[in-house]
Amino acid sequence: MNASLTANESWLSRSLKAVWHPCTQMRQHSEAGENALPLIPIARGEGVWLYDFEGRRYLDGISSWWTNLFGHANPRISRAVKEQLDQLEHAMLAGFTHRPVVELSERLSALTGKELGHAFYASDGASATEIALKMSAHYWRNQGKPEKNLFLCLSGSYHGETLGALSVTDVALFRDAYAPLLRAAKTVPSPDARQAKTGESAADVARRAARGLEEALRQRQGQVAALIVEPLVQCASGMAAYDPEYLRLARTLCDRYDALLICDEIAVGCGRTGTFFAHEAAGIRPDLLCLSKGISGGYLPLSIVLCRESVYQAFYDLESARGFLHSHSYTGNPLACAAALATLDIFAADDVLAANLRRAEQMRAALEPLARHSAVRFLRQQGMIAAFDVAPEMASADFSRRFYRAALARGALLRPLGNTVYFMPPYIIRQAEIAQLAETARAALDEALA
Ligand SMILES: *Cc1c(COP(=O)(O)O)cnc(C)c1O
Repeated sequence: MNASLTANESWLSRSLKAVWHPCTQMRQHSEAGENALPLIPIARGEGVWLYDFEGRRYLDGISSWWTNLFGHANPRISRAVKEQLDQLEHAMLAGFTHRPVVELSERLSALTGKELGHAFYASDGASATEIALKMSAHYWRNQGKPEKNLFLCLSGSYHGETLGALSVTDVALFRDAYAPLLRAAKTVPSPDARQAKTGESAADVARRAARGLEEALRQRQGQVAALIVEPLVQCASGMAAYDPEYLRLARTLCDRYDALLICDEIAVGCGRTGTFFAHEAAGIRPDLLCLSKGISGGYLPLSIVLCRESVYQAFYDLESARGFLHSHSYTGNPLACAAALATLDIFAADDVLAANLRRAEQMRAALEPLARHSAVRFLRQQGMIAAFDVAPEMASADFSRRFYRAALARGALLRPLGNTVYFMPPYIIRQAEIAQLAETARAALDEALA
C-alpha cells in the first residue's frame, strides 16, 4: 500500500480495484474533470449525515436511495437489531417460523385494516416485484385461466432490474441493453400530472390515462393477469406525480376486466407520500402490495408482498403444484424483520405521519423560491418527496453528473434523475438542514448550468 495516500484515497483506490459499483459506468470513477464521477468512501453515519474517513460530512438528501427513514445509526433500530442478533440471526422460513416474522406480518396486515395479509418475504425490491408477477399469473392459472398472463404497466414505470421486473419497467436506460431477454408487457399511458394541457387539472390527466388503460384492458380481454403501478409518484423515471383519481379508476377497471391490481410501494410506502401506504390517498386497496426500501428503516434488505385473502385461497390446496413454490434463502430474515418492527414502533411512538406534515410544509417553504429560478420547471411535492425539472434547453447532456458533483462539493448528497432534481430526505431532517439542502440545490443548479 502507498503510505502517502490519505485514508479516503486508500479506500477509494482499493474499492475501484475490488468492487463493481451499481448503476455506474465505472470508468467515470477514474476520470478527472468534466467526465468525473466522484466515489465517496463512507466511514460512518449519524442522523441525516454520512461521514468520510477524514470527518467530511454529506447531508443524505435522498435517504441513501430512498431506504432510510429515521436517520443513519438510529439508536432505537440499532438496539432492536442487536437484541435480535443475540437471539436468532437466521432460520429458514420453509417449515419454520419465528417471532419477528409473525409479529411483522400481523402488524402489516393490521395497517391494511386486515384487507391484505399472508405476507410473503424476500430481500430486495425487485424480488417483491417478481413474486407479485408470478403470484398473479399463477393465481389465474389456478383458476383454470392460464392464458391470463399478460402484465400492464405504466409508461415510465420502474419496478426493479431483474429480468421479470425489468419486463414491466419502462426506463430505456435500464432496459434497452436487455430488451431481447425480456418478456413482452403492455405499456399504458402514465397519468403524470406534468402532461396537463392548458385548462386541464391533474385529475383530468388521470381520467385521460384511465381511458387508455380501459382501451388496453378491453383489447386484451381474457389475457391480462395484472396491472402494476407505483401509486402517486413514479419515482425512478423522474418523480412523476399524479392524482389519486387514477388509482380509483384503475381499481374499478381492474375489477371490471378481471385483472389483479399490484401496488408497488417499494419507494412510496412507509409514509413517504403522506399516508402510511400511498394507495390510502385514493381510498382503495390493491390485490397485491409490494414493500421494501424503507420498511426496514434502511437497515437491511427486506421485501414483502401482502395479498388479499382471495389470492391466498386460490393457492390453498393439498396439491403441491397449486402452491406458490417460490423461495429465497434469506426469506423473512429475523434481523431484517426486527429492524422493520422497530421502524413500525417509531411510527407509532412518535406520530411520524403527523410530524411529517409539518416537515413537508417546511420543505415546501424552503424550496418555493426555486420556482422562480429561470431554469426550474414543474416544482412539485407529494409528502416527503419534492422535485423539480430543469428546462432541457438550458441543461447540458451531463447535467445530472455536474449537479451531483456540485452538491457533493457543498456537502450534500443529491443525485438527479436526468434533468429532475429531487429531495427525499430521512424523516428526522431538521428545519435548518432542510434550508441547507435547498440552498445547496440552488447553488449546485447555478454551477451545473454555468
Ligand atoms: C427501488 C424500486 C424497486 C426495486 O427495488 P430494489 O431493492 O432496488 O431491487 C422496485 N420498485 C420501485 C418502485 C422502486 O423504487
